[in-house]
Amino acid sequence: MEILLDSITADPSDLELTAEAAELELHLDLANLVTPVTYKLTAWRMEDEIFLNGTVTYTMQQTCARCLNEYEVPYSLTMDLVLQMLPDDQLRQEADEGEEFIMISSSLTTFVLDQQLRDLITLENPLKPLCREDCAGLCPRCGTNLNEQGCNCIIKEDDPRWEALKKLSNNN
Ligand SMILES: [Zn+2]
Ligand SMILES: [Zn+2]
Repeated sequence: MEILLDSITADPSDLELTAEAAELELHLDLANLVTPVTYKLTAWRMEDEIFLNGTVTYTMQQTCARCLNEYEVPYSLTMDLVLQMLPDDQLRQEADEGEEFIMISSSLTTFVLDQQLRDLITLENPLKPLCREDCAGLCPRCGTNLNEQGCNCIIKEDDPRWEALKKLSNNN
């Protein structure tokens, strides 16, 4: 996703940028982009700073870490950036001072936002995706999806009546 810096002026302009899923080269566990990533933003310039304020939207297909079902999740995330244009000789000295500012060479006419998108999407992606909070998962013994039906092996181990009996016998 590339933004044309020359077209951004003191007058705020509304832009819509899109990146194809393959372009971003995301490598996430149990998750794949199923739509392009869209950045709808307002952009303006104030002296040598360029402000980009907007919303990133996309849909992710995730695989539930417990039952392995695949499901889609739409995301809508705020991404506000400030690009600070600096002459090349100042770029190196100031490059690591502030984190909220992105230092770029004032000679650039375009800026690629792929890294910012990758960071945003990766941070938002759950480490352990679940189709729902209380997903019962698969039976570790027979592989039955316990959201859909029970199985005999689990009922024997987790039957609350057995638990109650165990407690009784422990107390005696
Ligand atoms: Zn699940
Ligand atoms: Zn089972």
